[in-house]
Amino acid sequence: MSCRIIDGKSLAEKIRGGVAAEVALMRVKPCLSLVLVGEDPASKVYVSMKEVACLGAGMKSRNIKLPENTSEEKLLAEIRGLNADKTVHGILVQVPLPKQISEAAVLGAVAPEKDVDGFNPCNVGKLQGGTPAFVPATPKGIMRLLKEEGVALAGKHAVVVGRSNIVGKPVASLLLAADATVTQCHSKTKDLAAFTKQADILVVAVGKPRLITKEMVKKGAIVIDAGTSKGTDGKLAGDVDEGVRDIASAITPVPGGVGPMTIAMLLENTLRAARAQGCR
Ligand code: NAP
Repeated sequence: MSCRIIDGKSLAEKIRGGVAAEVALMRVKPCLSLVLVGEDPASKVYVSMKEVACLGAGMKSRNIKLPENTSEEKLLAEIRGLNADKTVHGILVQVPLPKQISEAAVLGAVAPEKDVDGFNPCNVGKLQGGTPAFVPATPKGIMRLLKEEGVALAGKHAVVVGRSNIVGKPVASLLLAADATVTQCHSKTKDLAAFTKQADILVVAVGKPRLITKEMVKKGAIVIDAGTSKGTDGKLAGDVDEGVRDIASAITPVPGGVGPMTIAMLLENTLRAARAQGCR
């Protein structure tokens, strides 16, 4: 069976181009504040990629870098300042945070109307309730890829492997809202293959290279691989083994699938936040 490779890179470029074209016409440019606490190398790379994307779309980016030993109080004060600052339209606090800081307290402190990551409990609740405001970027990107592929979701069995607040849970909510029948698997799931084999649409967000092999996939399934970890060869690896391409009808590659869509969706969310706050 020939397997279509879902090109997230091209779609993300198209979306970023569209955002940039809109921003070019705006008198007041959207401004995203990226908050980074500590020296985690991966977090630094992610923040830098988001800043470059923001500037590339003609938006403003205001980075706040705080030392590893920053107290929760100090970080909350910074966020309150950004919430009140009318020149800042979106706020993204890069996670994970150092262990002395409660992630829940910090994400809950971001003003819902500036919460472009969609992690404030208010936005999480809206998503669950079927009236989404800001949808987290990676799940939003996954849904956009499925839409662009013309995948009809109603009545299909979607199996999501992973239940994090960042990817697994929100993508399951979105699939359910799109009328798929959803099964959610996680590390305590017994006989994972018994579930993945039933999937018309299989979304994997775990972080374990080659967790999903072709024996675990139904013929003709659409496979979305959100995983990004370092493979044994040191290269970026997804959660889905290459062999799955012999079985699936379509699959997202790693890199070049879900990853690029995440940043494109963040830019869309920032533009939306700025517009809702009156930027024209
Ligand atoms: P996470 O918070 O570590 O969650 C991983 C999930 O996988 C958990 O729900 C865990 O179950 C489940 N899991 C672990 N081992 C499993 C197994 N053997 N079988 C079934 N489920 C298992 O990770 P995350 O933040 O969701 O990220 C997942 C992956 O997506 C990572 O590779 C990450 O780098 C990638 N990611 C990519 C992007 C992007 O832009 N492309 C964005 C975000 C994340 P429990 O809940 O039971 O522990």
